[in-house]
Amino acid sequence: MTTAHTNFSMENLASLCKRRGFIFQSSEIYGGLNGFWDYGPLGCELKRNVREAWWKDMVLNREDVVGLDCSIIMHPRVWEASGHVGGFTDPMIDCRGCKKRFRADQLFEELGLQPSGESEVEKKFKVPAGTKCPACGSLELTDPRAFNLMFKTFVGPVEDSSSVAYLRPETAQGIFAQFGNVLSVSRQKIPFGIAQIGKAFRNEINPRNYTFRSREFEQMELEFFIKPGTDAEWHQYWVEQRLKWYQSIGLPQESITQYTYGKNELAHYASACVDIMYAFPFGVQELEGIAARGNFDLSRHQEYSGKSMEYFDPDTQEKFIPHVVEPSAGVDRIALALLCNAYHEEWIPKEGPAIEAEPGKPPPEGYEARTVMRFAPRVAPIKCAIFPLLKNKPELVGKARDIFTTLRKHWPVFYDQTGAIGRRYRRQDEIGTPFGVTVDFETLTDNTVTLRERDSMQQIRIPVDKLTEELAGRMG
Ligand code: ATP
Repeated sequence: MTTAHTNFSMENLASLCKRRGFIFQSSEIYGGLNGFWDYGPLGCELKRNVREAWWKDMVLNREDVVGLDCSIIMHPRVWEASGHVGGFTDPMIDCRGCKKRFRADQLFEELGLQPSGESEVEKKFKVPAGTKCPACGSLELTDPRAFNLMFKTFVGPVEDSSSVAYLRPETAQGIFAQFGNVLSVSRQKIPFGIAQIGKAFRNEINPRNYTFRSREFEQMELEFFIKPGTDAEWHQYWVEQRLKWYQSIGLPQESITQYTYGKNELAHYASACVDIMYAFPFGVQELEGIAARGNFDLSRHQEYSGKSMEYFDPDTQEKFIPHVVEPSAGVDRIALALLCNAYHEEWIPKEGPAIEAEPGKPPPEGYEARTVMRFAPRVAPIKCAIFPLLKNKPELVGKARDIFTTLRKHWPVFYDQTGAIGRRYRRQDEIGTPFGVTVDFETLTDNTVTLRERDSMQQIRIPVDKLTEELAGRMG
């Protein structure tokens, strides 16, 4: 059972994200564009930290994984081989009354309808006569149709069928298409992996739940190539690795669950698939899928390109098309999970520990409300804030600026001299800065500063020349 932190409204979180510069609506000045989001100064630091944590643990700290950075638009044959041109579809249902378009499975869920046991989309999601559109109440819902989620474009000046290309709906296929080149230059032997981080695009029928389902998003994918027959053990290995990784970025174990696909839910070529799920306030939802995909992708590219995808094993002198295990995660979904996990509304007394706020109520007598983003230091956009107690005392300001200059060589840090010190702490709490350093009059006599920890709000005094070391120890 999950006992995750979901007791807050997504509206309050979204409002903080906009107010403090984590996430903005794309093209907001023109009314926004559904399914597209921009990340502000703090949001792009948060995402960068997610990417860097993944790259460090999946590529840099391993000898058996190398990186790759492919183009977003590739030869259209890539998507024929992968099955995306023919099969990357969602069933959709239109309302002729209000022109709203629904994803059929979501519409069925919303209306409490059961899909039929048929496999064809047209039969599976046929709405019973008399079903009303949940948006306008009309009886004019269409039959379901398959809708391809790939964004189409044209390469070059002529817009005809010979110049059609697609924005990649996943980064994985670039890895398969470059398998031969990477193998020949990287001196890797199987088992080994190729990792890629980059944008992907899906024309989702119904983008929703804030950034959770977007039309433009970022993926972090690893294709780990293995010897046929070792699929189950490597799949298990990667599920374990990935679960540990989520804890390392501060998502607690109790907020994460695994969903193991049943045999009848698996794609025909896959032997196992586990989704890693996070308990969002809007439900338990997928952050990452880890699939054992056999040799489906490489075989298809071999068939469509006519180029061999075989691997020669120097130890056994055997030739085979490698199998693959694919952990595939979304940067934006992980960033959203981190934002949800971090967001806390609290009531704090003058002395002593904070208590969780009751949503919608003012704090009791003697308490003050604070919103705090409890990011783990590893992913916090700003690691430390530096404050002179007073801004009109040049000795305090000079000392604080010196500390700021020293610390910024190591981490993203922030200098703030404006407003009462309590308000400055609150501002940093709200953006999740884990540490605050205050320079006061005592600093001028004994060269110590106050180091404040965000969650406990505890303060200790520490010599300035021990500060970098102390912070480094606490960064995790
Ligand atoms: P879903 O079932 O939620 O549509 P999926 O199973 O189609 O996701 P995959 O194709 O396995 O997703 O993609 C791998 C990862 O990419 C997902 O686990 C998710 O983190 C991310 N991802 C996929 N689609 C989106 C999207 N529309 N917006 C944001 N992230 C996405």
